[in-house]
Amino acid sequence: MEAPSIGGVRIRKGDGQSVRLRRGASLSDLAEKINVDAAQLVQVLFSMGEMVTATQSVNDDTLQLLGAELNYDIQVVSPEDEERELLERFDLEFGEDEGDEEDLEPRPPVVTVMGHVDHGKTKLLDALRHSNVAAKEAGGITQSIGAYQVATEVDGVERKITFIDTPGHEAFTAMRARGAKSTDIAILVVAADDGVMPQTIEALNHATAADVPVVVAVNKIDKEAADPQKVRGQLTEYGLVPEEYGGDTMFVDVSAVTGQGLDELLEAVVLTADASLDLRANPDMDAQGVAIEAHLDKGRGPVATVLVQRGTLHVGDSIVAGPAHGRVRALVSDTGEQVEEAPPSMPVQVLGLTSVPGAGDTILVVPDDRTARQIADQREARKRAALQAKGARRKTLDAIKEQMEKGETSELLLILKGDSAGSVEALEDSLLNIEVDDEVSLRVIDRGVGAITETNVSLASASGAVIIGYNVRAQGKATEMADRENVDIRYYTVIYDAIDEVEAALKGMLKPIYEEVVTGHTEIREIFRSSKVGTIAGCMVLDGTVRRHAKARLLRDGVVVTETEINTLQREKDSVTEVREGYECGLTLTNFSDIKQGDIIETFEMREKPRD
Ligand code: GDP
Repeated sequence: MEAPSIGGVRIRKGDGQSVRLRRGASLSDLAEKINVDAAQLVQVLFSMGEMVTATQSVNDDTLQLLGAELNYDIQVVSPEDEERELLERFDLEFGEDEGDEEDLEPRPPVVTVMGHVDHGKTKLLDALRHSNVAAKEAGGITQSIGAYQVATEVDGVERKITFIDTPGHEAFTAMRARGAKSTDIAILVVAADDGVMPQTIEALNHATAADVPVVVAVNKIDKEAADPQKVRGQLTEYGLVPEEYGGDTMFVDVSAVTGQGLDELLEAVVLTADASLDLRANPDMDAQGVAIEAHLDKGRGPVATVLVQRGTLHVGDSIVAGPAHGRVRALVSDTGEQVEEAPPSMPVQVLGLTSVPGAGDTILVVPDDRTARQIADQREARKRAALQAKGARRKTLDAIKEQMEKGETSELLLILKGDSAGSVEALEDSLLNIEVDDEVSLRVIDRGVGAITETNVSLASASGAVIIGYNVRAQGKATEMADRENVDIRYYTVIYDAIDEVEAALKGMLKPIYEEVVTGHTEIREIFRSSKVGTIAGCMVLDGTVRRHAKARLLRDGVVVTETEINTLQREKDSVTEVREGYECGLTLTNFSDIKQGDIIETFEMREKPRD
């Protein structure tokens, strides 16, 4: 029987069976699953008005439409589903406390500090860190691991609070975007001398979107211009009504410089947590948590700061952290001490991973090293597949047409490698913020922490990307391979240098803009015929100059007769390169001899116009 035809394409249809595809799958993926030729799917989709290549990632709706057309029930599997199914295969689950109510114990709240730039987030985090009595007793604060814990006394009971050390809602939301809910409470810092500013509202919106309660720190009250009441009034308009006005948001006046109000702020955090959150976790299960920072340490190898969310993490545990795995070799607390274990809400540096996870990756203790490696391998494979899918952008007919009308677009592809997850993220953010022109764009096709590897070079080579190494170097045979494959690797130690050079490269990719500049006018006064050189125009240069090989147009009665070039140019009997205004000359035009007395030759140049 002949296969039915859809949009002129003969293709075998299904009988309604379901087909599972991962989000962002390509037509090739679908073709493989339903055993048809990918090219046929490209054609069918084309007949439906959409133009995608076989390897390009296709959105959910399109996959489903195409499936319906071919009589398949397409089920798009989200990364979250995939992750859940992966863990299920190992009889694991992330995100739930094991056991019953009575297994749960109170855990400290985890706090992120947000607010407008210069309102004192960093200073406040520093001040709180130094007010940390527990740390002082333990021999002082020795290092920053991306988060720290402080203790405060509320109603005669010692309570701990965990602060995430990277201020700002960007980091908070970046982590949330990865599905990691790391923050319980947000401290919104507002400078009392400046009041509510755009990023104050932005930060508030991020907290609200994440359903995170807010405590307002009205900062800089030591300043003369401070007007803390005004801040209260302003925020009321955005739905944050101070408790003293009958609302349920705690406002605390503080000074990160004098230390005034810091204890009250800590108390407010504890009280807000008690009032609106039920922060409990089972400390007696295998630990689960989230990586909030990770980098490659020269001496210690991959180091990840982990916020334990439930369970207790022990030295010796087998763990998976995103696509990294390993066995916990040592745990280092925020005071720089080696500890044996980390209970819920405690941030610790974890040593012993085989590679560097990303900020926001989940951490999971698993029964043994083998399980850890298998899960990590599968995540790595999934990441690679997703990257490939992402590498190709979906293009509609309209978009392609637009591109063609504008002329070919140029795109600079980059692979970023850096010494820590934070620096890679910062670099990527800054690079993507470079504004040049619509004609050129920049795309980061892969990023990661650690040395530049042969895998990076092979991806760069395959896709024509440039590799940027920020505080890292190429490893093993990567340099050799890059030389061989002509891959450009650039090293930077200062982020701004990288931005400058990339910006310059993008500008360099712009096609130059040319403008026409008229250089002179020459009138034809006499015509000579020569058997050797053809028709010679005896001319007078009216203005400007006329140059040999200059572009020229011949004007007759103000109308352009032809566009050509000055072929030969003479003064008297001598061949010259240039004749100026007020002089006579003889010239011939390239491929044009039908000249008349009184014709004007306008000469011009195309000059490159600088871009601003
Ligand atoms: P961020 O951009 O929100 O992290 O703000 P910073 O913590 O860097 O603070 C910005 C500036 O305000 C710095 O010069 C701080 O010294 C200053 N600052 C921060 N808190 C206070 C405060 O409570 N009182 C005064 N007088 N200055 C402060």
